[in-house]
Amino acid sequence: MSVETIIYTTKDTVSCTGELNDHPLVYYSVPETGYVTCGYCDLKFAKQGVQADDKRSYDRT
Ligand SMILES: [Zn+2]
Repeated sequence: MSVETIIYTTKDTVSCTGELNDHPLVYYSVPETGYVTCGYCDLKFAKQGVQADDKRSYDRT
């Protein structure tokens, strides 16, 4: 599987137990730019910002 799953958050710290709760609880600090990748399950966490606001970006002209 090569599909990237990126979870957007407004928090500075995220916790992860895997998409199926299949690994131990771990915490990661979310960088201001880019993302952090969970070492267990390869989920990616990014700061929610303009790049994540894609649901509202359609109406720019
Ligand atoms: Zn994880």
